[in-house]
Amino acid sequence: MTLSIAIIAPTPNSVRLASRLQTVLPAAQIWTKITDRSYEEFPENFYTYRGSLSSLLPQLWQTCDRLIFILAVGAVVRAIAPFLNHKEEDPGVVAVDESGQFAVSVSGGHIGGADALARQIAAALEGTPVITSASEGYQLPAVDLLGNAYGWQRGSGDWLGVSSAIARRNPVLVVQQAGWDFWRGSLPPNHPFQFATEMDNMDDAEATAAIWIGDRLPPEAIRESPTNMPLVCWHPRTLWVGVGCERGTEVDLLEASLRQLLAENGLAVEAVAGLASIDIKADEPGLLELANRLNVPLQFYPRETLAKVDVPHPSAAVEQAVGTPSVSEAAALMAAGSSELAEIAIGKRVYRDARGACTLSIARSTVEYNPNIGQLYLIGSGPGSLDQITPAAKSAIAQADVVIGYKLYLDLIEPLLHPLQCREDSQITQEVERAERAIFLAKRGLTVAVISSGDCGIYGMAGLVMEALASQDWDGENPQVQVFPGITALQGVAAKVGAPLMHDFCAISLSNLLTPTDVIERRVEAAAMADFVVALYNPRSKNRTEVLTKALQIFRRYRSPKTPVAIARSIYRQDECIYLTTLDDIEEGQVDMLTVILIGNESTFRYRDRFITPRGYTGKYDF
Ligand code: SAH
Repeated sequence: MTLSIAIIAPTPNSVRLASRLQTVLPAAQIWTKITDRSYEEFPENFYTYRGSLSSLLPQLWQTCDRLIFILAVGAVVRAIAPFLNHKEEDPGVVAVDESGQFAVSVSGGHIGGADALARQIAAALEGTPVITSASEGYQLPAVDLLGNAYGWQRGSGDWLGVSSAIARRNPVLVVQQAGWDFWRGSLPPNHPFQFATEMDNMDDAEATAAIWIGDRLPPEAIRESPTNMPLVCWHPRTLWVGVGCERGTEVDLLEASLRQLLAENGLAVEAVAGLASIDIKADEPGLLELANRLNVPLQFYPRETLAKVDVPHPSAAVEQAVGTPSVSEAAALMAAGSSELAEIAIGKRVYRDARGACTLSIARSTVEYNPNIGQLYLIGSGPGSLDQITPAAKSAIAQADVVIGYKLYLDLIEPLLHPLQCREDSQITQEVERAERAIFLAKRGLTVAVISSGDCGIYGMAGLVMEALASQDWDGENPQVQVFPGITALQGVAAKVGAPLMHDFCAISLSNLLTPTDVIERRVEAAAMADFVVALYNPRSKNRTEVLTKALQIFRRYRSPKTPVAIARSIYRQDECIYLTTLDDIEEGQVDMLTVILIGNESTFRYRDRFITPRGYTGKYDF
């Protein structure tokens, strides 16, 4: 689902800023006021309006999910005031100052998505997000956003009451009867939640508010708690409804029957993941309209597939009529997933009146349906400090539900993370498991940022994730994959020591964990011989010292002993340390796995504390 976003940019200056925003919000429309000035270059999706903002706003308010104003907050407040209705329905509104320093979430912070958008915009503009929602301050997920990433639906509840209890840090009971418990992983140690799987011993609970997460409705005991404890409901979408019906059955009968069946069994209509039937019903108007009304997917299966499903109530009459002993139970089970993941929650019921006849069954899947398409952001976070990360990568990190990577790298980007995000640290050696885990999470519909230091496509996670996807018959679309480049160690060290990469260069990793030593030595020899400036990655660890010794011997055979060499450790990090030396004088003991070694070519020279490799063509060509 693409959001419809409008950027209102009244002045030429603000149009310039708006087109910068389009790099991270490519589908956004830019609206500007007609002036005498002609724009040299029109951005994409560019529209104009005449007169005042108040003539434009009624239309945008109706049609857009998010509005970004490049305008003073006061002017924004005045402009939107007449339209503000309810935070459940209003678009999210963000105000950005003309110089792009601040992205202020003005209204619709949670459900309207303005907080998240302000974060994304600020990251892209290298500005500061201004977010004043309470949950931001106490480092806890906002209760009204809790299940969005997992495709859960908000049910009824006293959202303000529960939010206030959380803000006051009063104990809040969480009863989770269905859906993924992954969200608990992001909670800080001092969170106020008390977890339970059933809600019957309410008397013992000291809680002052409750969150119910289930495909069922909460039991009466809590709905009508004598203490009037505020309660909110989230409904993971685990229920698949199998439908069989007579041709022409009216949608009203289908809907009323389904609602009745759910209500009688204490199930929430919001927990319906989708509908399923036999393929000969693919054009059944009532069924199509029911899916439309409930805004859920509709799946069809051929009779041969349905006939193979083991169901509780097979019928000879149905088999006679359509060629499978079950439509509704079998279709519900098929849609709910493989048999280990699904069970029939409610067996076949028949409803019939003047409007037609239908059979309904409900299967429950242990894994909830999530309509969000998973995203894998493969991100290079640069060599260390936050100011060396690209704005696009920062903006992608800001959007992630989960951030996964080696602990040291996640510590370095910790200031960019926010409370709704789950952080998953992994061990340095577990790259393959990390890639598999990231794919698993994205396949469940989450937006997953996989962090590599430097560039993610240079001895980083990008290749591992893509290799794993390729081995799983990935269709190229689900999950979606985007790679965000970063400054790699070799560029970092080059910048620190001057201009050593002005002619041809290469990178060689000395790690023989995945590459045979003789292959590494062959490449070192070829690079040394061909006079490349060389960066040695993964040069030496406690137990792996001999590859470096051998590599340096090879270089010494081909290059002058005075060739400039930089040994750069933890560049752009707090403990950065750079030694400038020569090929002959390298002290191997100074080298470890946090180090990159840069070896000049035969023309590289040192001038004071800078390395310079001549561009090579000077004097020969004009350029
Ligand atoms: N993807 C990373 C490389 C990962 S391999 C990148 O593009 O930079 C790990 C090796 O990279 C380390 O052993 C070291 O040789 C080098 N490296 C990464 N970051 C570094 C830093 N900040 N300072 C020095 N070397 C670094």
